[in-house]
Amino acid sequence: MDNNIIEEIVRTAHHIYDKEMILGKAGNISILDDNREHMYITASGTDFKSLVHEDVIKVNIEDLSYESVDNRVPSMETNLHIGIYRKRSDVKSVVHVHSPYATAFAFSNKKLRQLEGFGEITGEYIAEVDYYPPGSKKLAKHASDALKNEDSVLLKDHGVITIGKNIDEATLLCEYIEGIAKTQYITHVLNL
Ligand SMILES: [Zn+2]
Repeated sequence: MDNNIIEEIVRTAHHIYDKEMILGKAGNISILDDNREHMYITASGTDFKSLVHEDVIKVNIEDLSYESVDNRVPSMETNLHIGIYRKRSDVKSVVHVHSPYATAFAFSNKKLRQLEGFGEITGEYIAEVDYYPPGSKKLAKHASDALKNEDSVLLKDHGVITIGKNIDEATLLCEYIEGIAKTQYITHVLNL
C-alpha cells in the first residue's frame, strides 16, 4: 500500500465535500500508481465527508483483485476508471462527481459552453456521453472512448468526469467545470 497516494485521496475527498461538489455518496476518485499496475479508488458507498484511509482500496487493474477492510468493495465505477487508464497513458487520476450545476446541464437540453480560463479543453462545448446506466460496462466503454481526446466529459442524465496527470489537476478541472456551469446557469436566468 502506498500511504502517500491514500493520503492524497483522503485529502481530495474532503476538499470535494467542502466545495459541495458531491451529493450524498455519489462520487468516486482514483489514482494510478507509478508502474500503472494498481489503482487506488474510493470504496463503494463512501461518505466523502468522513472518508478515512480504510475507504481507499488498492485494485489490480489487470485482474481486478483487491484486499479491503470490513468487507468494503471498490467503487461501482471501477471499470470506468480502469478503462480510462488503459486508453490514456498520460493520465494518473480520475474524478467523478454529480456536482449540482454541471449535473444540471447534463440533465438539461442545454450544452455547457467552454469558457476562457482552462487550456486543456478543446472545442466550443464540453463533450457529452450518451446515457448508460451507472456502473455498466457500456458506460465504461463509451465514457473512456470519449476521454481519449478530452480531459472532461458530461455524462448525460448522470454527472461529470475529469482526468489529469495528478489528482490536483483532475480536481481543479472538476471545479472549473462546476464553476462555468454555475456562471452559465446564472446567465440563462438573467436572460429570461
Ligand atoms: Zn455517478
